[in-house]
Amino acid sequence: MKLNFFIAGGAGFIGSAVIRFLINETDHQVLNLDKLTYAGNLESLAAVSSNPRYQFVQGDVCDRALVSKLFADFKPDVVMHLAAESHVDRSIDGPAEFIQTNIVGTSVMLECALEYWKQLLSLRGGEADEAIHIDGMDRHGPSALAMTSGATKESFRFHHISTDEVYGSLDDTGLFTEETAYDPSSPYSASKASSDHLVRAWHRTYGLPVLITNCSNNYGPYQFPEKLIPLMILNALEGKPLPVYGNGQQIRDWLHVEDHARALYKVVTEGRIGETYNIGGYNEKTNLEVVHRLCDILDELVPLSGSPRDFVARDDVNSYKDLITYVADRPGHDQRYAIDASKIKKDLGWVPAETFETGLRKTVEWYLNNATWCQHVQDGSYQRQRLGVIENE
Ligand code: NAD
Repeated sequence: MKLNFFIAGGAGFIGSAVIRFLINETDHQVLNLDKLTYAGNLESLAAVSSNPRYQFVQGDVCDRALVSKLFADFKPDVVMHLAAESHVDRSIDGPAEFIQTNIVGTSVMLECALEYWKQLLSLRGGEADEAIHIDGMDRHGPSALAMTSGATKESFRFHHISTDEVYGSLDDTGLFTEETAYDPSSPYSASKASSDHLVRAWHRTYGLPVLITNCSNNYGPYQFPEKLIPLMILNALEGKPLPVYGNGQQIRDWLHVEDHARALYKVVTEGRIGETYNIGGYNEKTNLEVVHRLCDILDELVPLSGSPRDFVARDDVNSYKDLITYVADRPGHDQRYAIDASKIKKDLGWVPAETFETGLRKTVEWYLNNATWCQHVQDGSYQRQRLGVIENE
């Protein structure tokens, strides 16, 4: 069945992977609402943005009038809420934006979703289809997409995409399950914990049909190079230091972003309303292990011997590993995250397609093969899209 997917935050790393999946592998209609902060990059959607099933609206999830209008015009069957400030270090330097977007923004999305859902509840059978067709006839933009929709109280669901960081830090043993108590450490994880609580409250208090997923660290193509893996790849290629926090022994559980996108689609289309699903790849690695593995792949794919790069002339650089530099640890740095993903496997049959080895190699190859995307992020020119200056390249 063709559905209308309202994606908030679709120009980000994970949101763009979800939209590429929806456009390339399903027949659904997609509306992408994104503010285009520094983390929003329309170039990550270049391959699908001309598809007639895709629409983009630049705007803020905190803008109640806009969000309410998009619900009314687009008539979503499914809302996937990914719009967020997502970088832990930035949340330590400036928490206010995290509280605004992650908490206030989520509450606005919930209020508008509830208002819309109540309207769906009040429609009698068949009326929803008719209303949508009439609404879509004389309009352009998102409401034109809604012409194919038959959003009903049965089809509607609100999916909040969240993180395993809400659970805090683990010792050497144990895994986060859906029952693990919340214990966030950073302003980022505290703001995501708050937004998860709001989503649950809208379900328990008002009956809004919600789903929540908490996922481990993602990696893969189109990730902004402030995050560990792309930062290391791009720094290494330029001969810059590879900064590792503390002793590099913090453990993260890694998942390829395209496996995450598939898991999200499974949950939102097949998951049980009101449930939480943890998503992870059983790929626990220390940060130092990740950087070493990246250096091994780079040493193989872009060997330093015979390379024209300036820094290779330095006697002390024989492998990319020689660029590793230890820097002061992040305050409140959680020691270990690890996800028990048995529920999503048992209930929905989801398992990741990539191992860490295959996914990491593909990721390095992607950054090597997509120099223009990387260049535009590094020189800031990708942000011209915020002013409407989008070039076809
Ligand atoms: P991202 O920072 O790459 O993208 C966030 C997107 O949201 C950007 O396109 C940005 O422009 C947009 N945005 C920010 N503020 C907005 C606002 N006020 N209104 C509208 N749009 C706004 O983040 P990501 O890595 O793609 O993460 C997406 C979601 O998944 C987040 O909620 C994050 O907490 C969660 N998550 C991320 C990871 C990970 O490893 N990246 C893991 C688990 C969960």
